[in-house]
Order: sequence, then structure tokens, then C-alpha cells
Amino acid sequence: MALIVHKYGGTSMGSTERIRSVAQRVAKWARAGHQIVVVPSAMSGETNRLLGLAKELMPQADSAEAQRELDMIAATGEQVSVGLLALALQAQGQGAVSYTGWQVPVKTDSAYTKARIQSIDDARIRADLDAGRVVIVTGFQGIDSQGHITTLGRGGSDTSAVAVAAAMKADECLIYTDVDGVYTTDPRIVPEARRLATISFEEMLEMASLGSKVLQIRSVEFAGKYRVPMRVLSSFTPWDIDIAEEARSGTLITFEEDEKMEQAVVSGIAFNRDEAKVTVLGVPDRPGIAYSILGAVAEANIDVDVIIQNVSHDGKTDFSFTVHRNDYHRVLDLLNNKVAPSTGAASVTGDPKICKVSIVGIGMKSHVGVAARMFRTLSEEGINIQMISTSEIKTSVVIDEKYMELAVRALHKAFDLDAPLPA
Ligand code: ASP
Ligand code: MG
Repeated sequence: MALIVHKYGGTSMGSTERIRSVAQRVAKWARAGHQIVVVPSAMSGETNRLLGLAKELMPQADSAEAQRELDMIAATGEQVSVGLLALALQAQGQGAVSYTGWQVPVKTDSAYTKARIQSIDDARIRADLDAGRVVIVTGFQGIDSQGHITTLGRGGSDTSAVAVAAAMKADECLIYTDVDGVYTTDPRIVPEARRLATISFEEMLEMASLGSKVLQIRSVEFAGKYRVPMRVLSSFTPWDIDIAEEARSGTLITFEEDEKMEQAVVSGIAFNRDEAKVTVLGVPDRPGIAYSILGAVAEANIDVDVIIQNVSHDGKTDFSFTVHRNDYHRVLDLLNNKVAPSTGAASVTGDPKICKVSIVGIGMKSHVGVAARMFRTLSEEGINIQMISTSEIKTSVVIDEKYMELAVRALHKAFDLDAPLPA
């Protein structure tokens, strides 16, 4: 008997018919003798609908009081879906009970709309499991020390599921979703992309942060911190598929490195179109210049990603960095109105039409020339690289957005990811 957490995303919970199918699948696992905790998302589209209603009444809900209400509203989506799933299980003769975040309780800090989980009390859940019930816990929400309802940020149910699995020391956390695993890249761009049977936790962290949207990045961080075995798999297989086969399907996120070392140098190609580039031209090259530019940006609560500072000519240098595209106009205003005047920069330019393409692979640690192969591939396609950033297991380039698909396809091929896996 194992203790297993199942997480179902919004599409998997998208209709009463889908919920019935989820219930049949869950009941199958329970009948096989496992203790099952389920963490579902709201029905697909529901969180958007709820936040849309809120927006009609207050387009810019920025104050703490307003943000509190946003969480109050958004959290109801999950309250409905857990109740429906519990009913569907009971209707099949499987004992089941649902709990909201505050009933468990799942304690969080008070950062409304992006709260962080602090602790989960598993006593109530355990008592129900021991009584033979399936326990269904809302994803995405918790309660702060003052008793206010909080939510964890969009896509936060993944993190809820992993946190519950960590708190309960579950044997595995199965993330059921509308794709059947983690792919070498987005199959909509490269039809030859293939599912990875395993991916290391470090690679998954990079893939998630670089724009592969299968998992919320915080859930991966959580899984890494508490070493929660986690598998991404499809909820669109027939619910009565053989349980042993199902347990091996999808993509397993592993913590063993050596296993992986033998395999491909690059495991996947990630991309991100959400960034924009800004450049401060002709800044005096003196100590403290990076701080005076990026300090001001950080103070405005704007996240910076790739950074480049050029060598100086005649005591002046250029300084470029990327930010989220949503922050583009804000950062330009800040640079033009505050940073340029105070640092003596000549001018400020920007380009919102860029993208970041990255190769990710643990194998890069032990192979040389991987980045060079990436640069050669891009040069053969005539793609100009604007910025480069590297870590032990990834190399990212910033390029013109219009070359993104071309770059992803070329790199997928160059790193042998198009080829079928050796048997
Ligand atoms: N329902 C929430 C959202 O749409 C949380 C989740 O689905 O993970 O963002
Ligand atoms: Mg999701």
C-alpha cells in the first residue's frame, strides 16, 4: 500500500463528464489498496471567469484590501471542484471527503495572490485516509495567520499538490494533465519532439523557468527541496487503463544524476517570448554603475533576467538587460526619467520583440563545446545572437522574435532530439 497524491488540472476537471472520469480513475487507485489524496484545480476557465468578474468591478485591484478580495473570489473555483469530485466518488460507492485550504489547514504567508505555503497540518487528512476515504484538498489556496484566505498565484495547484505530498511524505505525486509528459520541446513547433521518460529535477527547474509551461516552477522547487518523487502524466488515457502501465507512463522527475549522465548532452530546448530588451547607452564606466541602474530597477520591483555590460570606449559603456514584457514600458520610463539623468547616460533604447531560446541538459556539465555547437547552428541559419547567458546546465540566447521557431527547430535537430530514442 502506498500513499499517493494525484493532481488534476483544470482541463481534466473541465466538465461533470471529465470529473466523473477522474473519479473513476481515482477509485481504481483506491481499490488497488492505495491511500489517495487528490488536489484538483478549478474547472478550466473558472479562475479566469471569476477574476474577470472582479475586474469589471475594479479594473486595477492593487491595494492590499482589494487583493484580499481577489483571493476570496478566486479560491471559490477550487471549492466547487473538490466538492464535485467528492460527490462523483461517493456516487460510485467510494468514500470521499473534500476540504478547502483553511479546513486542512494549509498555512501561508499573507502575500495575497502570490502567497507561499508555510505549513500543512496533515492530521485530519490522515484520519480520513485511515478510515478508508479518498481525501480531496483544494489546490491553489491556503489561509494566513490572521485567518484570511490566500491564493498561491496562477497555476498554483501544482505547488499545492507537491506541498501536500511533501508534508505527508507521500510515495509519489502524480501530476495529471492534458499532455502526456514533458517533451524535448513544444510539439506545436517541432512535430518530431518526443516525450522524455525521465528528466532530472535540475533540468525540469530550468525548463519550467525558461517558459515550458507544463508545471508551475514553484512546484518543481518544492519537489527539489523535499525530494518529492513527481510524475507528469495524462488524464486523457482511458480511466480503466492498467494501473501498472499507468504508474510507468508520462515523465518521471528524478533526483539521480548519474543515470542521466550517460544520456543525451542536451535534454530539451526551451523558449520564452515574454521578455523585452532594454539598453542604456553611453553610461560613464565607473564603479557602482551596474548598481545605480539595476538597483533602481529592483527598487521598482521589476525582475531582470539576462544582463550584458560591454567593454568601455573612452570611459563610456553600454548596458543591456531583459525584463518581462509586461514591465517594458515601466522600465523604459524609469530609465529615461530617472536612471539616465542620474548616471549621465547618453540615451536609452529598447526592443520588445525579442525571445530567449535555451538548450538545457545535465550532460552539459561533462561535455565541452556544447555552447559552441549551439552558436554554430544559429549562425548556419543566419540568426543573429543579441545576448548570451549560461549556467552549468543551460545556455540561453536572446534573438529576434521572428526567428524563434526557426532557432528551436534547428537546435532540436542539431542536438539529435529529432531522432527516436534508442530502444
Ligand atoms: N485555478 C488556478 C488557476 O487557474 C490554479 C491552478 O489551476 O493551478 O491558476
Ligand atoms: Mg496548471
